[in-house]
Amino acid sequence: MPSSAIRDLLKITARPEIISLAGGLPDPELAPRERMAQAAATALAGVESVQYTETPGWGGLRTVLAERESAKCGRPISVDEIVVTHGSQQALSLLAQVLLDPGAVVVVEDPAYIGALQVFRAVDAKIVAVPMDGDGMDIDALESVIASGTRPTVVHSVPNFHNPGSRSLSVERRVRLAELADRHGFWVIEDDPYGEIWFDEPSAAPVASYSDHVIRLSSASKILAPALRTGWLHGPQHVCRAVELVKQGADLCGSALTQQIAAELLADTNWLDGHIAIIRDAYRGRAKVLCAAVDRAFGEVSTRTEVSGGMFSWVDFRDGTDTRALLPLALEEGVAFVPGSAFAVTDGYENSMRLCFTSSSGPVLEQAVDRLARAHARLHPQ
Ligand code: PMP
Repeated sequence: MPSSAIRDLLKITARPEIISLAGGLPDPELAPRERMAQAAATALAGVESVQYTETPGWGGLRTVLAERESAKCGRPISVDEIVVTHGSQQALSLLAQVLLDPGAVVVVEDPAYIGALQVFRAVDAKIVAVPMDGDGMDIDALESVIASGTRPTVVHSVPNFHNPGSRSLSVERRVRLAELADRHGFWVIEDDPYGEIWFDEPSAAPVASYSDHVIRLSSASKILAPALRTGWLHGPQHVCRAVELVKQGADLCGSALTQQIAAELLADTNWLDGHIAIIRDAYRGRAKVLCAAVDRAFGEVSTRTEVSGGMFSWVDFRDGTDTRALLPLALEEGVAFVPGSAFAVTDGYENSMRLCFTSSSGPVLEQAVDRLARAHARLHPQ
C-alpha cells in the first residue's frame, strides 16, 4: 500500500519558512472556535457526551443531518438512512469494505481524489479511470467503459469543486450518471465535502436527488472544522445497516462529544448560513488573488481550471515543465504545491500541479506565486 504523497509532503510543509499551497487544509482561523467552545460546554454539562454513543451516530445529530439531506435532495430522508462517520474519509473506507469484493470494478475520476484511491486499493478493487473535462466526469467515456463489458460495482465521483481538478459535474451529467446507475445497478458514491463552498452560484442538486443507487457523503470538515471528525453518509437503509455492522468492528462508535458539538452548530441554521457565508467570502477573495497571480506569472505557459468554489486551483503547464522536478526547487524557494502526478490513477499529469488557496492571505498567496515563478525560472534557464 503506497503512502499518500500529500500526507508525506505535509511533513515537509510544516516548516515555518515554507508557504504551503500543498495540503487541502481549511483555514483554522475561520473555524468557529468560540461557538464550538460554547457547544462543548453545553454538551459536557450532560453525561451523555462522555459516554459511548450509538454506532450509526448520536441520535440528535442524525436527526439534524436527516433534515439537511432532505432539504438538499428534495425528498424526505429518515434517520435510518444516515450514518455518522469519523470524517467522510471513514465513510469511504467502510463503504469499500461493505460493497467491494477483491477484484470488483470501481470507476474513479482521473485525476482522482487520493484518499479514495487509497481506500479502493486497500481492498484490492480493480480501479478504472474515467477522464474529466470542464463539466466533470466524462459520462460518454463512462458509457463506453460499460459498453465494452466492464461492470462497475461502484462509481466514485466528487461532483462539486473537485479535489484536485476544481471542476463540477454539470446538471445534465448528474442526471445521466443517475440513470446509468439505475440501469446497470452500480452504486454511485457521491463524495461531496465541498458543495457548500460555492462562490457565486449555489451547487447543483446532488446526484442523490435523481436516484436511489447513490450513497452521498458529506462532512463538517470544510464548513466547521476537520478536528470534529464528523462526516456522514446518506444512503438506503440496508446499506446503512451494513455500514453500521462494519463500523462496530472498526471503532464501536464515533465521539459523542464532537457529534453533539456538530449537532448544535448544524442545527442553528441562521448562524450556520452566516458562518458559511464568511468562509465563502474569504475563499472567493483568496481564489481570485491566487488565480490572478498565476495568470500574471504563468499565463503564457500554462492553463488553469476556472475556480468557482472549493479549495483548489489546477494548473497545466504547456512549456514542458515537469512539476515533479519543479517541486524541490520550489521548496528551496520556500513554497510547496502538489505535483499533478500524485493524483494520477496510473500515470500522467507530469505537467500539472494542484494549488490550495485556503490557508494563506492574499499577500502571502502573491508571495507564494512569486516564489513559484523563481523556481520555474531556475528550471528553465534562458
Ligand atoms: N472526500 C474528498 C473529495 C476530500 O477532498 C476529502 C478531504 N480532503 C475527504 C473526502 C475527507 O474529508 P473528511 O474525512 O475530513 O470529511
